[in-house]
Amino acid sequence: MKDIVIIGGGISGLSAAFFLKKKGRDVLLLEKSDHLGGVMWSFEKDGYLLESGPNTFMGLTPALKEMIEAVGLTQDLISPPPSSKKRYVYKAQKLHLLPLNPLHFFLKSSLLSLPGKLRLLKEPFILPSQNSETIEAFFLRRLGKEVTYTLVDPFVSGIYAGDISKLSVEACFPELYSLEKIYGSIIKGFLKRPKTTPKKDHTLYSFKKGLGQLPKALEKWFGKSVWENSQVTYLQKKEEGGFKLEVVSKEGTKTLETRSLILATPAYESAQLLQKIDPQLATELLHVPYNALTVFHVGFLKKGIRHSLDGFGFLIPRSEQKKTLGVLWSSSLFQNRAPKDHVLLTVMAKGGTSSDEMMLEVKSMLDIENNPLFFHEKKYQHAIPQYELGHLKREHRIHELIKNHVGLQVTGNFLGGVSTVQCVEQGLKLGHCLEVR
Ligand SMILES: Cc1cc2nc3c(=O)[nH]c(=O)nc-3n(C[C@H](O)[C@H](O)[C@H](O)COP(=O)(O)OP(=O)(O)OC[C@H]3O[C@@H](n4cnc5c(N)ncnc54)[C@H](O)[C@@H]3O)c2cc1C
Repeated sequence: MKDIVIIGGGISGLSAAFFLKKKGRDVLLLEKSDHLGGVMWSFEKDGYLLESGPNTFMGLTPALKEMIEAVGLTQDLISPPPSSKKRYVYKAQKLHLLPLNPLHFFLKSSLLSLPGKLRLLKEPFILPSQNSETIEAFFLRRLGKEVTYTLVDPFVSGIYAGDISKLSVEACFPELYSLEKIYGSIIKGFLKRPKTTPKKDHTLYSFKKGLGQLPKALEKWFGKSVWENSQVTYLQKKEEGGFKLEVVSKEGTKTLETRSLILATPAYESAQLLQKIDPQLATELLHVPYNALTVFHVGFLKKGIRHSLDGFGFLIPRSEQKKTLGVLWSSSLFQNRAPKDHVLLTVMAKGGTSSDEMMLEVKSMLDIENNPLFFHEKKYQHAIPQYELGHLKREHRIHELIKNHVGLQVTGNFLGGVSTVQCVEQGLKLGHCLEVR
């Protein structure tokens, strides 16, 4: 009988395993693919260093710091140069620099018209709403049409690659939402909130050889506590307590028993595994929507690109009706992402976008004439969970239903935030909660 089995070796499962193991618990982590990290995976191809999923994480929280130190990666942490603060929005066939501060925004930015800018001044006088709102409804009401569709929409694309008319403002932007609740206005909230609030670290980080260095280092740190190529295909709750699992690997099918079980698989996978144990819980999990996304990596000769690529990259409002959602100038962010004299672009596009469609759009937006010298494509059917209206209530029901099963927990990016840092925080919480059980 195992002490704790964790299913799923993405950053959520890895974090839970790390903090539990740090507390001296006996953990076994099962991962169906041949590598740890899930979507957090970096690899080299033809001299380019590619990120399959996340490119950076924001803020070195104490939990992440502890993990990175433990696996010996502190020296490999890197951050983009100050120029990466420059971000652009593509609108009306031009790249517009996003305002770096409010004064710059009012005086210089070409992104909004004067009426669009002046509309912002009404924000402190708009009454808070008592309804649950989408991101679109919240920002239309508070900041007006232009800001919503030109700035908020692409910003949301950059995190969720999602649709502002469906996503819940309370679930996706809890801090802004609570500023309205507490101070009656976002602007008043920013001005009035106590200065003692600890400042958030907004620094972006990666590792010299990409974010995938972290799961690789964790794999070494865990040693025999990790089984890769091991897919859990069946779960059963034992009457006397604990769980029975069926694990399929290259060697065949094995049965395991464990006192505690953590599912760190995507919601739709967890739903399938839990169907027999708790159909109601499985239904809640199955109803978490995900978007489809394609990540393209494209390499060009530097001299063929007129734009200096001096920044992070650019995002595209949906109103531009492009298939491309955003483009990261990966080789401007970090060294060694492309061979000498080449540049690497990472393009996020809507699911189902063909390489020809993407290429046509990106070449036109960046005014590139030459064809790429390097190309790679990764399609996600289920990329990022979409925190739509009602998501927080669903999270609550999931947490309540889980309480009916002693020794069972679920974690993952569909609970408590989609970012890498939030997944790590979830893992940390699980470490504490299983400790006191
Ligand atoms: C394209 C993309 C770009 C992103 N960019 C950023 C970014 O820049 N910054 C940021 O902070 N976040 C970003 N994110 C979000 C963040 O990376 C993810 O939310 C996070 O990595 C998800 O981790 P996870 O462990 O919850 O899920 P996953 O990474 O999906 O891991 C789940 C794991 O479970 C395994 N598994 C599934 N079923 C079974 C089974 N039956 N048995 C055993 N194993 C199983 C899978 O193989 C997988 O390894 C991005 C996400 C994507 C997709």
